[in-house]
Amino acid sequence: MSKQWDYYNMVGFAPETDPPDDLERLSVVAAETALFLDFDGTLVDIAPTPDAITVDGSLKSLLTDLNRRHNGAVAIVSGRNLQEIEHYLGDCAPTVSGGHGAELRHGGEHLHGVKCDADRLDHIKKAVKEFAVLDPRVIAEDKSFGIVLHFRQHPELECKVRDFLTILVGEDDAFELQSAKMAVEIKPKGISKADAIGRILAFKEFSGRSIMFAGDDDTDESAFSWVNQQGGVTVKIGEGPTCARYRTHSPSTFKAWLREQVEAGRS
Ligand SMILES: [Mg+2]
Repeated sequence: MSKQWDYYNMVGFAPETDPPDDLERLSVVAAETALFLDFDGTLVDIAPTPDAITVDGSLKSLLTDLNRRHNGAVAIVSGRNLQEIEHYLGDCAPTVSGGHGAELRHGGEHLHGVKCDADRLDHIKKAVKEFAVLDPRVIAEDKSFGIVLHFRQHPELECKVRDFLTILVGEDDAFELQSAKMAVEIKPKGISKADAIGRILAFKEFSGRSIMFAGDDDTDESAFSWVNQQGGVTVKIGEGPTCARYRTHSPSTFKAWLREQVEAGRS
């Protein structure tokens, strides 16, 4: 047993596959591939607060070119609210799943979201916001179907945040915790990015194509695993254990690779 296998097993990502290969070795056939892209940490750099990210014109033109190259089979699959992705990307991203699969837009139409106990969610949101008022070192991010506590500027608060949210959710059948980079979220049970990808694959532009999914966070690992099982291509952006098949250093190197793919398709 190799040391690397031991490490991945210990941290909870026992590899079904070899460690990820360098993305530079990969080339995809656009006409046969549906592209699923996470947003924060994948297409834009993580910022100190969720609303401090910068989206420049080059990302919008890249997404426009990718949509053309893949004949519309490009989707953003984000943990953010759908409305925020629309705010940042507008029409450059016609197909978007927000809230880790809770929301979906396709063909300019908002499709049904998840059903959840609105009163219970409201109660959870109020309690989490009060927590953030009492300890302003954390930031509460209100979402359509959940709420997040960010502790990016105070990583020492992780245990305190996690303990609070764990007690708040308790034995709830309808909600669960999800860990992300320097944040913990409460979201409805039974939603996932993998489910979102599955739903989007039913749309005609996506149907019958092989899947490529790129993400950066622990929240993307279950989707990596599912896409791997479907025989797709998975890309981890940045450091950290992963079951993705390829890795690239940062959103910048990932976008450079995407741009190379677009340019190669023009030759
Ligand atoms: Mg991300």
